[in-house]
Amino acid sequence: MKPAHCAVCDTLRWRTVVQQVERNEAKAGAVVGLWPKPDTIFASYATPTGFTSPIAFCPGHAPALGDSAPAGLTSGGEPIATGPCVQLSIAKTRHAVCFTDEHGAFLRAHLADQIGLAESERDAVMAQWANDRSDAPRVTSGGRR
Ligand SMILES: [Zn+2]
Repeated sequence: MKPAHCAVCDTLRWRTVVQQVERNEAKAGAVVGLWPKPDTIFASYATPTGFTSPIAFCPGHAPALGDSAPAGLTSGGEPIATGPCVQLSIAKTRHAVCFTDEHGAFLRAHLADQIGLAESERDAVMAQWANDRSDAPRVTSGGRR
């Protein structure tokens, strides 16, 4: 199981960019996750001591509540999830903060200052972000009119 990939089909469930410059701890060429694809489903499974961290799935492979974890969901050869699926959430709700105006402003600056993307590439990433969030519930900090 790879983080940020569907636990069944291994498709990448996050939007990513390639780090362009050495910056702080970041190495050029590293793949950097930016925000989850809005239709990614996160599932937690019961364990003897509680429940697992949320595990990402594509919409086609998402479990239902009560389902057993897919075979092969292991870490170091040990099954990660021993019990049924006990919690489900969708990325556009779980990670709603990724789709706020404030985060968009941060993201544009981050892509320039930290990642080192050229302006045309930043525009392409921000267009993808705007498209992804158009399907996402808005988190508003102000009151309703
Ligand atoms: Zn899948």
